[in-house]
Amino acid sequence: MRLSEVESFLSKVSGYYVEDLKTLLKQPSISARGEGIDGCACMLRDFMKDAGFRVEVWKIGDANPVVYGEMPSNSPKTLLMYGHYDVQPPEPLEEWVSPPFEAVDSDGKITARGAADSKSNVMAIVKAVECYSRLEFDLPVNLKVLFEGEEEIGSPNLPRYVEMYRDKLKADAAVCFDGGLDPKGRPELWLGLKGMLYVELKCRAARVDAHSSLAPLIENPAWRLIQALTSLRSPDGTILVDGWYDDIRVPSEEDIKLIEDVDYDTLLAGLKRHFGVDRFLSGVEGVEALKKLLFQPTCNIAGLYSGYTGLGAKTVLPREACVKLDFRLVYDQNPYRLLESLRRHLKARGFDDIEVKALNFLEPSKTHPSASIVKAVSSAASEVYRSKPQIYPNSPGSGPDYLFTKRLGLDSVWTGCSPPLSNAHAPNEYTTRESFLRGILFAASIIEHYGGLDW
Ligand SMILES: [Zn+2]
Repeated sequence: MRLSEVESFLSKVSGYYVEDLKTLLKQPSISARGEGIDGCACMLRDFMKDAGFRVEVWKIGDANPVVYGEMPSNSPKTLLMYGHYDVQPPEPLEEWVSPPFEAVDSDGKITARGAADSKSNVMAIVKAVECYSRLEFDLPVNLKVLFEGEEEIGSPNLPRYVEMYRDKLKADAAVCFDGGLDPKGRPELWLGLKGMLYVELKCRAARVDAHSSLAPLIENPAWRLIQALTSLRSPDGTILVDGWYDDIRVPSEEDIKLIEDVDYDTLLAGLKRHFGVDRFLSGVEGVEALKKLLFQPTCNIAGLYSGYTGLGAKTVLPREACVKLDFRLVYDQNPYRLLESLRRHLKARGFDDIEVKALNFLEPSKTHPSASIVKAVSSAASEVYRSKPQIYPNSPGSGPDYLFTKRLGLDSVWTGCSPPLSNAHAPNEYTTRESFLRGILFAASIIEHYGGLDW
């Protein structure tokens, strides 16, 4: 059985592979400020070449490079695997137990920015292929991998890369390896992601800040903005923009069945405990709360700023007010159309003085539970983690999955090998040797199962 040969080979080289992961973790690659990106792309290219890939580094304009690799085989099937090598900024630095780019390994726990999200996932794919190369095994599928460097800033240029390299990216299915395990140690499989419309609203009144004694005469932009905001959403979370719900597809019977398999009581109790809240919005509970989490579009205020916010009192009438809003979208809402609906909504209510600037667009995605890639990834998860994976019909989070499902027409599963509660995006992000090494086997097992050997 080939996977057991991969496993026994891996046990001999695991020390080297962990060192290679640590080398990649020591290389910063902070997309939010462009730090270390090119260096990281080159390092990844070299690791992939060593693993046996044919590698190309793609670069469009000043977009961060995409590192693309191919491992051809005689199989008629092609699998495309996606990952990202960029990371979030590590701040606040003082909260880290060890510096974020030193990859300190203490008793098998490796602490570094990007350890979980997502360099251990990226390296798991690379090292799975390296095992095949060293063992001189042919892959049971043609494998294509695409590692981008802008996922943490919303993949703004990935649509252009996918369009430009559409022929190269032809495949039969996709696996996005950028996820991880649930608290019970089972891989989570997401069969769709929410979309995103991220906007900044700005209201300007006067040319300069004014003494607040002028409030009887001069419009306060903070009040204007608040009035506009309250017109967008009711207190229970319903979005009040005309037509916002028009394109939404109701969850299918299969989707609901998957939801009912989730241990939602544990999940919801864990959320309440972690965030220190004793009730959810509108008092929703049980399966209804999970349905809302996965299938409800949202209008969230991510940041709101205006005027004086320092210590003590300052009587000022600010000249401008800003808000950042993220709208999460569900299948099959379209962020470009909804941006127009939002603009129309504000205009119709007399808020012409509010400037709307769109910062990010992601479309929602969906893959049917009966797709063969879902079966392949589930079987691989069961084989490697010795328990059934947790399959969600949709994720509450967002990502560029729609490029694979909608633009390339592929079925796609979002999964990965990060440990549960791994502090992604927060200080002290970590992975473990064990999670990484098992992740290599998971990637190999996905390739095996999709290739159809062992079915
Ligand atoms: Zn992330």
